[in-house]
Amino acid sequence: MWNASWEKGGLPRGIHKQMLVGMELEYAKCAWCERVLRWKSELDVEHYRPKAEVTCWDGSPPLVSDVGPKEVYVGPGYWWLAFSWDNYSLSCSPCNRGFKRNLFPVMEPRAACTEGVELTEKALLLDPGSAFRVRDHFRWTVDGHVEGVSEEGRATIITCGLNRRDLVVRRLKVALDVNETTDMLIRSSQSSRRDDMRSARKRLMRLGDRREEFTSMVRWLVEEKLRIDWEKLPRCRLDHHRAGNVRRKIIRHPYDCACNVVTFRAIVFRHDCQRR
Ligand SMILES: [Zn+2]
Ligand SMILES: [Zn+2]
Repeated sequence: MWNASWEKGGLPRGIHKQMLVGMELEYAKCAWCERVLRWKSELDVEHYRPKAEVTCWDGSPPLVSDVGPKEVYVGPGYWWLAFSWDNYSLSCSPCNRGFKRNLFPVMEPRAACTEGVELTEKALLLDPGSAFRVRDHFRWTVDGHVEGVSEEGRATIITCGLNRRDLVVRRLKVALDVNETTDMLIRSSQSSRRDDMRSARKRLMRLGDRREEFTSMVRWLVEEKLRIDWEKLPRCRLDHHRAGNVRRKIIRHPYDCACNVVTFRAIVFRHDCQRR
C-alpha cells in the first residue's frame, strides 16, 4: 500500500496518477501492492469506488490468502464517480481482478449507494490517493507479511490480497536486505567505520526510494529498527545503539499461513534515546 503521505508537504494526491500522466515513464507502481510494473501492459486504471456494482464478503476472510474472498452482491455501484479523476488508481491485475473486483468495504450499516454517499460513509478500504500515515494502519513482519493495525488496514489487506504468496516472497527478500543493511549501519557506526556507514546509509536510501517496490515496508522497517524518522536517515547519529544493548528475540510467525516460514529471528535494539 502506497501513498504520498511519507513525503512531508510533498506530492499531489496519488503519486500513481502522476506517474500515469508522465507518459515517458515505462514503469509505475501498483497503488495497492507497490509492485513496480510496466504500466502499459501490466497495470489497469481501476476505480477506487466500484462504478457498476458493489459487493462485500461474508464473515471474516483470512488476512493471508492466495484467492480473493467470495463476493456477495450488495447493490449498484458509484456510477457518478465513473469518470472522476480522484476515483482512479493504477492497479496490477492480481490486486484488481484477482482480489478487489467490486469489493468496497465500509463501516456498517452501509448507507444506500446514492449520489453524495461518498462524502458521509466511512470507507474501510484505504484510499491510496488520500493522505494517511502508513504506520497508523500497517506493520510488517520480518518474514514479509503485512499486518493491519487498524480496521482500515485489515480491510485493505483482505480486499487487495496483500499477503498472497508471491508478494510475501518478494517482500521477504527486500526485508532481509533492509535487515542486513541496518545491522551493517549500526555496527559500522559503533566502530566509526565511516565508509561502511556511508554505503549502508546509501543502500537504505535507495531501498526506500519512492520509485522502488515496497517503499512503505522498507521505511517502516528502518524506522522501527533505528528508532528514527525516515526523513532523518541521511544524517542520523546511531551512537546510542551500543553493542551491549543488542538482544535477540524469537518472534512467532503471526499466521497459520501456507508459507514454510514458521519462526524467524529478529534482532531488537534497545536504545537510550528517551533516557537522555
Ligand atoms: Zn498490485
Ligand atoms: Zn508465512
